[in-house]
Amino acid sequence: MQRDLAVVWHPCTQMKDHETLPLVPIKKAQGIWLEDFDGNRYLDAVSSWWTNIFGHANPRINQRIKDQVDQLEHLMLAGFTHQPVIELSERLVQITPAGLDKVFYADNGSASIEVALKMSHHYWLNLGKPEKKRFATITNGYHGETLGTMSVSDVALYTETYKALLFDAIKVPSPDCYHRAPGVSWEEHSRFMFEAMRQTLEQHHHELSAVILEPLVQGAGGMRMYHPIYLTLLRQACDEYGVHLIVDEIAMGFGRTGSMFACEQAGITPDFMVLSKALTGGYLPLAAVMTTNQIYDAFYDNYDSLKAFLHSHTYTGNPLACAAALATLDIFAQDNVIAKNQQLAQHMAQATAHLQDHPHVAEVRQTGMVLAIEMVKDKANKTPFAWQERRGMKVFEYAMQQGALLRPLGNVVYFLPPYIITPEQIDWLAEVATAGIELAVKD
Ligand SMILES: *Cc1c(COP(=O)(O)O)cnc(C)c1O
Repeated sequence: MQRDLAVVWHPCTQMKDHETLPLVPIKKAQGIWLEDFDGNRYLDAVSSWWTNIFGHANPRINQRIKDQVDQLEHLMLAGFTHQPVIELSERLVQITPAGLDKVFYADNGSASIEVALKMSHHYWLNLGKPEKKRFATITNGYHGETLGTMSVSDVALYTETYKALLFDAIKVPSPDCYHRAPGVSWEEHSRFMFEAMRQTLEQHHHELSAVILEPLVQGAGGMRMYHPIYLTLLRQACDEYGVHLIVDEIAMGFGRTGSMFACEQAGITPDFMVLSKALTGGYLPLAAVMTTNQIYDAFYDNYDSLKAFLHSHTYTGNPLACAAALATLDIFAQDNVIAKNQQLAQHMAQATAHLQDHPHVAEVRQTGMVLAIEMVKDKANKTPFAWQERRGMKVFEYAMQQGALLRPLGNVVYFLPPYIITPEQIDWLAEVATAGIELAVKD
């Protein structure tokens, strides 16, 4: 710990916190368990930042990477290609919604969102429509930490400080169903909220390149959720007004929402689908931007037309990362994962149902394998606890003492577990969360 704090500056951390909150050195991990140097184990209930879906040290993924490393560890992808990137691209085209036929790679989520934004605008330039240079998004969204992605994000904690550096995106009120009126269904609320988006498209379509949003669950914004109808309506409206639709499935792709991709629940094909996080089973950084042949064709011309997409990241399509992704897709193909997840999701609902009535829980909400518990000061009017009180951190500290890694987002305690979690582990996690919340909401 001391050696670390002398030299490592950690992400998403006020480093001074570590004067009181100990850093947790992890020695090794196996399956759903992380293990520290004293032999204490922690159940990884947030899948190591939403990436690890089939457990740590998964034998099938390990083996595939080991085989690949002896064959080819890295290769520049401009002018060259390799077996894993071809096979992965073929398989992603197969399993994503029909019409997404080309794959462009990046090496992390933010970079791939930048790719989608640039590609969308560049497409309109290539078509002679330079005025289509703005982006619309929904409030409370999160798309990454780079300047472009922060410009289309809306979680103030991360973006506010840098606002002088950001470009101006149009923010439309989120369909977030936490804010629905009593007695109103998710579908009704999401339909109702779509009207503002329709008006934005009507007013601004001539200058809009794309609408970008997270599908069904706004992750970093506190696991806020909405109904698939919003995406269905948005697809129709984007077609009607000639605006691209970028769906950021970085967190929610690969089975998290109950279907392989969240877009499936709305029956839509976006113009750009962005994938990362669980793509490699949580092993290695890799991201993919899926798009249509129609968009690809707008860049396809003689070199001197200067229509080519000259974007690149050094580690684009790294063979080891592609191998990890292929092993991950094999597990989906072999293990009936989506159907099993439905049972686990049901179990998560049952195990936490009692919290619905808790006086300091405004809502327990769920979409597939994401379950979120929103702690509030006053349940009747959903008055939040002041953020300065850091109630969520109290749950985190308690859970760590019990051996569970539950890292809340503000006042939202959530389960986003690897798909290898057992019903018994879910029950135990619910007990830990309940006791942690009990402790955290005390004055
Ligand atoms: C994590 C995340 C990103 C950013 O990915 P990084 O790899 O952390 O840059 C973008 N969008 C969503 C929805 C995410 O959850």
